[in-house]
Amino acid sequence: MARYTESACRRCRREGLKLYLKGDRCYSEKCAYERRGYAPGEHGQIRKKFSDYGVQLREKQKLKRMYGVLEKQFRGYFEMADRQKGITGTNLLVLLERRLDNMAFRMGFATSRTEARQMVRHNHFLVNSKPVNIPSYLVKAGDSIEVREGSRKVERIVEAMETVARRGVPTWLELDKENFRGGVKALPSREELTMPVQEQLVVELYSK
Ligand code: SF4
Repeated sequence: MARYTESACRRCRREGLKLYLKGDRCYSEKCAYERRGYAPGEHGQIRKKFSDYGVQLREKQKLKRMYGVLEKQFRGYFEMADRQKGITGTNLLVLLERRLDNMAFRMGFATSRTEARQMVRHNHFLVNSKPVNIPSYLVKAGDSIEVREGSRKVERIVEAMETVARRGVPTWLELDKENFRGGVKALPSREELTMPVQEQLVVELYSK
């Protein structure tokens, strides 16, 4: 199965921003981007001037890496977003947010999307009371996600939930910590998605 091989921290340094790929480490002084906030490699500290195409490409890579999605699947999200009503760029971001691994991360059941993805694959979650182990499963407004009864003592989940306040739960989601359950109050608006991404550049890149 295809996957990212470059280390998580190198990906952040390459994109010039924190992608929060390594859980709690990302919030500590151990964060590699905090210590070396320039691109990896011998010439990483040399300021590069990108062409218009280069800027669009970097923006796409940034978004893909943030959600841990590979090219083919990402392209599929773009095509789906393009077919939907509304602004394609916003549709694309909302589709990425709807992924079950992202939702589990956003609700605080995992400290990173990577960790959430592994947990989903290991059958730790129920969506609307039914088991789902597909990380790309698209959650809808009104859906509930809960940790399976038998998984509520899993150390990584318990630890993630202990530190959820530090990461924060978005206003469009709700979390019932006592019952290991979260809900999607509504899908997010563009204003509620605060990550520094210029999705319009991705649309321009794919529309060429
Ligand atoms: Fe990125 Fe996290 Fe590594 Fe920092 S610790 S560079 S935010 S993956």
